[in-house]
Amino acid sequence: MLGGTFDPVHLGHLRSAVELREALGLDRVHMIPAARPPLRGEPRVTPEERLTLLRLGIGDTPGLVADPRELERDGPSYSADTLAELRAAYGVEARLVMALGHDAFLRLADWHAPERLFAEAHLVVVDRPDHEAALPEPLAELIAGREVEDAAALMAAPAGGLLRLRLPSRMAISATAVRRRLAEGRSVRYLLPEAVEARALALGLYRRGAEAGG
Ligand code: ATP
Repeated sequence: MLGGTFDPVHLGHLRSAVELREALGLDRVHMIPAARPPLRGEPRVTPEERLTLLRLGIGDTPGLVADPRELERDGPSYSADTLAELRAAYGVEARLVMALGHDAFLRLADWHAPERLFAEAHLVVVDRPDHEAALPEPLAELIAGREVEDAAALMAAPAGGLLRLRLPSRMAISATAVRRRLAEGRSVRYLLPEAVEARALALGLYRRGAEAGG
């Protein structure tokens, strides 16, 4: 699972998903937009539009799935609930992985029921340029004794481990920078998949003064 706001999805997300799948030998990567992200402000466009952009971005990429399950639930989009659903779908023996960038990982101790995340899945933390701060104390306590050295050690069990990964193509792309560029009318070419760029421009998404929701 690679969850996120995807406001909008960009090539940093998609390239990470492809490389994660290869590095860990995953059958598939569920990319799951949060309908109502609990720890940040209301996204600029609706969950449905972010899902549409994600589907366009994934296109026919093998092994990547645009998963709408958090749009189908009421209330805040807690990853612990999402992982419990995936666990129920794939069974107790399946190896489940929740991947997240280092910036998101730094706030993990503030998430809803963080211990439940490890009960349901492994966590894989992906290095991200410009996001390299040290771990806060509550996070260090949360992950104590969980870290493993490599993908093989992680995948020996269905859940509970932590692996930090440096993927080959680290990309300094953020949705914040993409939104800012679109607001200012600057180019986003090669930051977004072409189909995502085309739709964002055609609908005027993220344009300064545009209605949230597109
Ligand atoms: P924003 O700038 O709006 O905060 P973002 O670019 O960080 O957005 P999110 O949708 O918040 O995108 O990210 C979803 C997940 O993908 C998070 O775990 C985040 O750390 C990770 N991620 C985002 N961009 C990258 C990137 N360029 N490389 C690796 N991981 C990334």
